[in-house]
Amino acid sequence: NQLAQSSVHRAKTVIIGDFNVGKTSVALRFTRDQFKEKYQSTIAASFFANSLDFNGEKIAFQIWDTAGQERYRSLIPMYLRGSEAAIIVYDITSKASFKGVHFWLGFLRDNGPQGLKIAIIGNKLDLEASREVSEKSLLWSEKSQGYGSINPNLVENHKIVLNIRPARILHQPHCI
Ligand code: GDP
Ligand code: MG
Repeated sequence: NQLAQSSVHRAKTVIIGDFNVGKTSVALRFTRDQFKEKYQSTIAASFFANSLDFNGEKIAFQIWDTAGQERYRSLIPMYLRGSEAAIIVYDITSKASFKGVHFWLGFLRDNGPQGLKIAIIGNKLDLEASREVSEKSLLWSEKSQGYGSINPNLVENHKIVLNIRPARILHQPHCI
């Protein structure tokens, strides 16, 4: 039935971020509600799918989970082609991975399509005791017209959708 099909919105989404921050875990939790303790590094990229009903519209997420290591970075622009959204993940217990957010914003600016929507996720919220990146780091500041320590020039042409907390995803999927 064509009517039903036309109301499906396909949202190609790419997950990026440094190595070991939890990109694959976020994708697994969002699409299969699973979590794996044991680390399994992603080779090149993997595909995940999930559909959500949002305000009466069905959104079919086609999620490309990429590998954070440098040797695979040259492949990412291929996945970004035709993407609607990108999710940058960092690990709240790793300052270095938050620095990586700056790198990835620049990467998206240089390689992402126009109008790409960007969400930033601070992952591993359960490890609050080892937190290295303060919650304020990503708050919008009127003064700088940017997000905390994030260079506003990096977000100029893009829309940061939400600074969602994946700890919430851990319990129930949230539509962004
Ligand atoms: P990726 O390299 O960015 O894809 O990272 P992974 O998703 O493979 O996760 C790296 C490691 O961190 C794995 O051992 C996961 O089990 C662990 N991990 C991922 N997310 C969380 C989280 O929210 N909390 C905790 N405590 N560990 C996590
Ligand atoms: Mg991975």
